[in-house]
Amino acid sequence: MSPIFKKPIPITMPTMPSVSAVKKMYDSILRSGMITNAAKVREFEAKTAEYLGAKHAVAVSSCTSGLMLIMKALELKGEVIVPSFTFHATAHAVVWNNLKPVFVDCDRDTYNIDPESVEKEVTSRTSAIIGVHVFGNPSDIGALERIARKNRLKLIFDAAHGFGTRYRGKSVGGFGDAESFSLSPTKLLTSAEGGIVATNDLHLAEKVRVGRNYGDSGDYNPEFSGLNSRMTEFSAALGIESLKSLEKNVLRRNRMVRLYKDMLSEIPGISFQKIEKNDRSSYKDFSIFIEEDKFGMGRDRLYALLAAENIGVRKYFYPPLHRQKAFLKFGQMDKYLPNTDLVSLSSISLPLYSHIKISDIKKICDFIKKLHYGNKVI
Ligand SMILES: *Cc1c(COP(=O)(O)O)cnc(C)c1O
Repeated sequence: MSPIFKKPIPITMPTMPSVSAVKKMYDSILRSGMITNAAKVREFEAKTAEYLGAKHAVAVSSCTSGLMLIMKALELKGEVIVPSFTFHATAHAVVWNNLKPVFVDCDRDTYNIDPESVEKEVTSRTSAIIGVHVFGNPSDIGALERIARKNRLKLIFDAAHGFGTRYRGKSVGGFGDAESFSLSPTKLLTSAEGGIVATNDLHLAEKVRVGRNYGDSGDYNPEFSGLNSRMTEFSAALGIESLKSLEKNVLRRNRMVRLYKDMLSEIPGISFQKIEKNDRSSYKDFSIFIEEDKFGMGRDRLYALLAAENIGVRKYFYPPLHRQKAFLKFGQMDKYLPNTDLVSLSSISLPLYSHIKISDIKKICDFIKKLHYGNKVI
């Protein structure tokens, strides 16, 4: 039997802006001879700062390098508390700064870092907390801010999924000490590769600016060891043009998720990530939670059956960080993180991108429904 989708439907893909508009900018960049970290990057920084409602935006080569530079600039020491339920880059950035990641649990319903779990891990060695807006769902920012203030800790957000995310009606970007956004092609807003560090702290912004240029502020006598994590003019141009349709794309994703939820919520054993009433998810990803006894099969079986039909699915985030090889040396493999284990063993991300076809979503949902009801007449 041939698969439901002859042409594989990807888990995600970038929604491209107007090709002619981008080409025109590339033309002018090439003619100018200024091909990196120049006028287009400045323009993109100004526009992203405005969109995010942050005082400063610093363009970097990736979200990962942005996180690395934020932690470097804050001169952190000792331990940094991070969620285990996230993409591994969150913790790589900690390790590259010679800091120890301390993995904590996520909330059972929102999948975001659990403030109670954070509080339990604060010691005299802790210097910072990193929250992640998982799948575009904003972290419990208020609770994290309270813990950070009380314990004099720095608060950083991995906002890789955060373009389009709103916390209590306000765009993320200006929370904590700084937030780092990703512009890689799997994210809503892309510049091919790239990142934005957003902050309201002028001193921190300037230090990240110097840090992205080897730590050299221009006198060839750097005060600290930075990176080369500059953004090219071509990336900035792509970002500028893509930013124009970001809001439209976030709204379309929210509509497509409503359609997914309308069709899937009637199936026993399927539930969804909880988004608080006054928040907005960017829906960088759409994830469903499978209860084996009610749905009739477990996550892994469902994953295999969907993949066999050429449906792009992912086990985000499995294995969770505290069980990944790169982090075993920190000795937290057997830590009791029950929600992290549960969510990472039960979740499956379904195809979602800003221009996904309604008919494709319907086909995917009909197939999942059929898997549950078997051959019985619905
Ligand atoms: C994609 C992603 C990153 C890494 O972003 P890059 O721009 O590729 O460095 C970091 N954290 C999370 C949660 C991500 O999803």
